[in-house]
Amino acid sequence: MGKETPQKTSPSLEDPLQFIKGVGPKKAEVLKRLNLESVKDCLFHIPFRYEDRSKTGTISTLEAGEHTSFSAEITAAGSYFIGRRRRVFEIALQDETGAIRAKYYQFNATYMKDKFKIGARVIVSGKPHPNRRAGSRLELVHPNVEIDDGSQNPSVETGRIVPVYQTTEGLHLKSLRSIIHNVIEIYSDLAEDFMPQDIIERNGYPPLSQAIRETHFPNENSSLDALNRFKTLVQERIVFDELFLIQLALFYKRKQTKNVPKGIKLKTRGTLIKQFMQELAFELTNAQTKVLASIMNDLEKPVPMNRLIQGDVGSGKTIVALIALLTAVDNSYQGALMAPTEILAEQHFHSLSNDCAKLGINVELITGSLPSKEKKQALERVREGISHIVVGTHALIQKEIQFDRLGIAVIDEQHRFGVLQREALNKKGTAPHILVMTATPIPRSLALTIYGDLDVSLIDELPPGRKPIKTQVYSENKRDEVYNFVAKEISKGRQAYIVCPLIEETEKMDLKTATETYEYLKERFPEINIGLVHGKIKSAERRQIMAEFKEGKIQALVATTVIEVGVHVPNSTLMIVEHAERFGLSQLHQLRGRIGRGTHASHCLLVAYYPLSDEGKARLEAMRESQDGFYIAEKDLEIRGPGDFLGTRQSGLPDLKVANLVRDIKILEIARKEAEDLLQNHPNLNTPELSKLKNELLSQMSDRMNLMDII
Ligand code: ADP
Ligand code: MG
Repeated sequence: MGKETPQKTSPSLEDPLQFIKGVGPKKAEVLKRLNLESVKDCLFHIPFRYEDRSKTGTISTLEAGEHTSFSAEITAAGSYFIGRRRRVFEIALQDETGAIRAKYYQFNATYMKDKFKIGARVIVSGKPHPNRRAGSRLELVHPNVEIDDGSQNPSVETGRIVPVYQTTEGLHLKSLRSIIHNVIEIYSDLAEDFMPQDIIERNGYPPLSQAIRETHFPNENSSLDALNRFKTLVQERIVFDELFLIQLALFYKRKQTKNVPKGIKLKTRGTLIKQFMQELAFELTNAQTKVLASIMNDLEKPVPMNRLIQGDVGSGKTIVALIALLTAVDNSYQGALMAPTEILAEQHFHSLSNDCAKLGINVELITGSLPSKEKKQALERVREGISHIVVGTHALIQKEIQFDRLGIAVIDEQHRFGVLQREALNKKGTAPHILVMTATPIPRSLALTIYGDLDVSLIDELPPGRKPIKTQVYSENKRDEVYNFVAKEISKGRQAYIVCPLIEETEKMDLKTATETYEYLKERFPEINIGLVHGKIKSAERRQIMAEFKEGKIQALVATTVIEVGVHVPNSTLMIVEHAERFGLSQLHQLRGRIGRGTHASHCLLVAYYPLSDEGKARLEAMRESQDGFYIAEKDLEIRGPGDFLGTRQSGLPDLKVANLVRDIKILEIARKEAEDLLQNHPNLNTPELSKLKNELLSQMSDRMNLMDII
C-alpha cells in the first residue's frame, strides 16, 4: 500500500493492529499478549535471531555443509533411545525429488509430537551433514522447521534472510512475520527520526525508517553472522535510540533527586569524628579517604546525598559508613544502617556498639525477631531521638518506625534491596542523605544504567596485609581430601567454614545438607569443636554460635548461606563450599570473601558434583581464575545476562526492548556521552529541533522511569 486510500484518515503509528491485513479481532487479542497493540509496537518488535533462507532448493539438490531451505512433507515422526539414557526425536521428510531425516537430540516430547504431525507440509532450513554410520547419507541435525499451511507469503518466507521473533501460543511465527511485513510496507516511512540529525550523522547511522525496515527484513547482501550478533548499523541505530532515551531519562531523574528542596546541610569533621579518628587502630586506605572526601562534600550541601559505594568484600566499607553516620550524630541528627540479613545487622550492631563505646552515643538494634516488648521500647527510643544510630534489617523501613530526626540512611549490600526500599527509607525523614554500599561490584555497563541516578564511588583498594586466596575445585568424590584440609588448618590454629546449599523441603534429594554435613564432621573429627548455623536456628542460639565462632571456641562452622555477607572472622582461613555448582557467581564470591581477612594464607575449596552444566562450569572457572570482584561481576553478567543479574524486578532496571547491556556496552557508552553533551547545551530540550526528541522521551520514558513533569 503506502498509496492513497482517500476515504480513510491518514495512517498513523498509533493505529491499532486489528485493522492490519492478516490480523482481525481474534489475532489482535493474541498480539496483546506480546504487548503488541499499535503499529508502532509492531515496528519495534525486533527479531531476536535471523535465519538464512536465501538459498532454496529441493531435497535432491542438498549438499553437505550448505545451508538450504526447502519445502517438504513429514512422512514419519517419533523418538527412540540411543545408548541407555539419550533419546533422539527423528522426523522423515520427503518432496518430489527425495527424502531426508532430521534429528533432534534435545527436545520436549509432548511439544514435538504436537508439532510434527505425519502428513504436515513444512518449510525446513538447515545445513545437511553426512552421517558416517549410515554410509554417509545426508541428514539434518536440529534444522528449523515451520509448518506450511499454504498461508505464507513466499516472498517473505523464502529466498532471503528471514527474521525470527518471539511469539506466543496461538500465533505462528510465520503469521507474525507476515503481519510485521504488512505493517512495515505501509508504515515504516512514518517512523520519523526524533534523534537530532548531527548525532545520527556523527555516528554514521541510517535513518530510523530504513533501520526499522532492514532490521526486520535485511538486505540481500547482509551478513547473517553480523545480524545474529546484532552488529549491523541498522540494528545498532535502533539499540542506540533506546539507550539514548534511557540515558536522557536518567539524567533528568538524577536532576530531580538533586532538586529536592529540603536537604539537610551538615557540618562535617565535628567533635565525634575527631575523637573517633584518634581512637582508630589503623590508617584509612587512600581509597577510603578519597571516598570519604566525596561523602563529606555531599553532606555539606543542602541537597540529599544519593551515593553508591562499590567496594569489594573486605575493602572496608563499614568504617566509611560509620564516619558518615557519626557526622549526622555530630549535627544532632540520627543515622540508620540497614542490612539485608539479621546476622549481618547484628554483626554491624556489635561492631558499631564497640566502635562507639567511648563516644557515649546510643546504638539501637531493630530486627524482626526482637521480642515485642523490647521492640516497643526500642521504637520509642528511636522516635524520641534517644537512639543516635539505628541498625536493622528490613524492619527499618516498616511503617511502625518513626525517627525523630533522620539525617543519614546507609543501606548495606544494595543488590539485595530494591529501589523501592530505597525510596521508602527516603520517606522516613525529610529527605535524608542516602549512602548505598555494595560488595557485589556492579559492572560498569549496569551501573551506568541502573544507578544513573546515583553518584558512584569506588573503594578500589584493600587494607594492607591481605594475603591472596587460593581457590581450587574438587570433585565430590574427593571430599575426603577436602575434609582433611579442615583438620590441617585447625591444627594450625585457624578456623574454617563449610557452606552447604539452602535446602527447600521439596528438593531434599541427595543434596548434602548442612545438618548432615555437621553430623558427619562431628563424628569424623571428634576432637574439633564444630558449630552449625542455618536459617531455622533461633536467633538467640545463632547469635551464641556466631559469638563462639568469633572467639575461636568453635573451630569449624557448618552453615547455609546465612553467613554469605559481612561476617568477619579474620582467623578463618578455609572456605569449603559444598555443591558449589549450585551457587551463583556473586554468592560464591561473597562466600570466598569471608576468608583472606587476616594475615594468614587462605584457601577456598569448591566441591562440585559432576557432570556440570555449561554455566556451572563457567562459574567455577571464573572463581578459579580471579579474585577480582569486578572481573567476577562481568563474568556473571556475561553468563547470566543482565535480566537475571540483579533480578529485573528489584533492580530498578528499565525494561529494555531491544538493547542488551552485555552486547551493547559500546553503544551504551556512546549514548551516554551524546546525551550528556546534548543536555549540556540544551538542558530543557527547548528548541524547535528538539521537540520531537522531547515528545518521544516523555511518551516512552515517563512511565518506564517514573519521570514526571521534570522537563
Ligand atoms: P566490607 O567492605 O566487606 O564491608 P569491612 O568494612 O567489614 O569490609 O572491613 C573488613 C575489615 O577490615 C574490618 O575488620 C575492618 O575493621 C578492617 N579495615 C577496614 N579498613 C581498614 C584499614 N584501612 N586498615 C586496616 N583494616 C581495615
Ligand atoms: Mg560489609
